Amino acid sequence: MIISFFVRSAGCAMIRLMQPLIIPRKGHSISRKQVNPNALRTLYRLRDYGFIAYLVGGCVRDLLLKRTPTDFDVATNATPGQIKRLFRNCRLVGRRFRLAHLHFKDEIIEVSTFRAAAPTDEVDTDTDTEGTGHGKKPPRHPVEAEEVGHSKRPPRHLIDDDGMVLRDNVFGTPEEDALRRDFTINALAYNILDYSVIDYSTGLSDLKQRIIRPIGDPFVRFTEDPVRMLRAVRFAASHNFVIEPATWEILCSLSSTIPRAAPARLYEEMLKLFQYGSARPVLSLMDGSGLLAALFPGFSQWLHGDSHHLTLVQTSLECLDELYRSGTPPSPPLFLAALFGPSLEEETLVRHRDGIPRQQALDAACAIFMEEFCKTVTIPARVGDRLRRILAFQPSLHRMPPRRPAAMVSRPEFAEAMAYLRLSAETRGENRTALEWWDAFLSDDPSVMPPETSNNEAPAKRRRKRRRRRPNSVQAVVDTT
Ligand code: ATP
Ligand code: MG
Repeated sequence: MIISFFVRSAGCAMIRLMQPLIIPRKGHSISRKQVNPNALRTLYRLRDYGFIAYLVGGCVRDLLLKRTPTDFDVATNATPGQIKRLFRNCRLVGRRFRLAHLHFKDEIIEVSTFRAAAPTDEVDTDTDTEGTGHGKKPPRHPVEAEEVGHSKRPPRHLIDDDGMVLRDNVFGTPEEDALRRDFTINALAYNILDYSVIDYSTGLSDLKQRIIRPIGDPFVRFTEDPVRMLRAVRFAASHNFVIEPATWEILCSLSSTIPRAAPARLYEEMLKLFQYGSARPVLSLMDGSGLLAALFPGFSQWLHGDSHHLTLVQTSLECLDELYRSGTPPSPPLFLAALFGPSLEEETLVRHRDGIPRQQALDAACAIFMEEFCKTVTIPARVGDRLRRILAFQPSLHRMPPRRPAAMVSRPEFAEAMAYLRLSAETRGENRTALEWWDAFLSDDPSVMPPETSNNEAPAKRRRKRRRRRPNSVQAVVDTT
């Protein structure tokens, strides 16, 4: 029987304490064959050295849903120092959240020590904005809890004035760890000791009913970490779940606080939101909740400035999702192009009509976009530059017949530029002839090729031979005087 009651502890979320529900091996569908071999090795080694070792988080959720997990996370009662001593391939990372990375040949397994909510006498507040990305402090050395022996240590738990968690390194029990996770469906654990599944909240029943529900008070949990709002949207869209109605209301009311999260984290989360096959439903949820307007006010205004714009971007994201489903996940620059390309092209056109050369107009539109975007979300400069190149490449692809197509194919941005050409042909019906030409060229099909270019290369422009001038003694004299 599940015994449950609620407590509200100082500065913490409303936490539901309950006896965990333990589902023995024969009562659930997770088999060790489905578990990543390196994660399994890690679990066994921790167990063999007497530590508790669980698979936790999204992988348990996805295995129960019969989906392929994106990664396998391990949680243990071994401290980061003990993990490091146990695994030679271990590197400790993270200041906000200290954890161990185990480096295997072609992957990294993340191992975290069970965390607890901060004891009230240890909660430190920080009035500056560490971790938000605005006005950063020089980094302090991370210190492991068990290795701290002096009073000048950095606090293990740190929150800002608004309750956002900046540092979270207080170790705890498996149960405390589960209850600190974001959503009930992400608080399930798989115990390597007896192969059971452990549910510390209402994860299993929410999984059955396909509901996204935060653990504890949604207001507190979204304030502690605004990125959880994006995670709620992501899981709802990618897993076809519903965000619990009361939670959705609070999410909408707090959506304007999303820019408080660190810009680098927001970029990482943006990629997960839009790159993995559910960009179209993500856009609807972000738009409906106010998250889109809070993150990209200019873009959101453009989107709603004309009903045609929304349809255009929606169709473009549908094509992006189709790409993912067909086994070619879009690169970050391509996703940015699919989402923001149409507005950038429109902006470019406006400037071009004002008399600015097209290339210059595009550079200016991209520069302004990057400046606005990077205030809240850090796009790496090289990704921003590739976005600009994809758009700058388009006129050369549209030109029929193209100049020196073989040379164009060898350019690094060609594949992404072609993918964007395909997206815009499908969404706007533009440049279909160009797309057909390029498809034929790339498949090397001479029958479909326009006759004048069927030899794989458009006729190069004939160069005039330059004649060398004979030195003119009179002229030379005139020039030197
Ligand atoms: P996926 O890997 O499929 O994107 P996930 O739920 O596994 O989804 P991860 O980012 O891998 O997401 O995180 C692993 C687990 O860590 C989550 O399932 C959740 O339990 C916990 N977690 C991640 N981010 C947060 C957060 N911001 N707040 C609380 N818990 C979190
Ligand atoms: Mg995961």
